[in-house]
Amino acid sequence: MSGGNAEAPLVLLVEDNEMIRRAFCILLEESGYRVLGAAGGVEALEVAARELPDLMLLDLGLPDVSGLEVARRLKAAEPTRDIAIVALTGRALEADRAACREAGCAGYIVKPVDTQRLLRELPTYLGR
Ligand code: MN
Repeated sequence: MSGGNAEAPLVLLVEDNEMIRRAFCILLEESGYRVLGAAGGVEALEVAARELPDLMLLDLGLPDVSGLEVARRLKAAEPTRDIAIVALTGRALEADRAACREAGCAGYIVKPVDTQRLLRELPTYLGR
């Protein structure tokens, strides 16, 4: 965890590409969020259960547990059910969107991510 403002929303960024993960962590921290990172699905599930972030940015293509499976497991468990999940994926077909919705994701952002749009949309997902 980083940043000194305990009131700032806590975002868990799940992304196996280290360069992308680092860049987004910096972007989000500079935008006033507290940020945690996870490089895979197992780590994401552990960190989410322990830290109960307000929002999770979830890459769907992970090396161990798929992002959709991570979303399903979080939505099936009482303590983590209310975490807002926004999927990040390069696959933009309607079937992929439907799969995200069915897994419990609140939203869907297509890679490569338009970072300005992402920053504009995050407060909506946080209900702020
Ligand atoms: Mn990936």
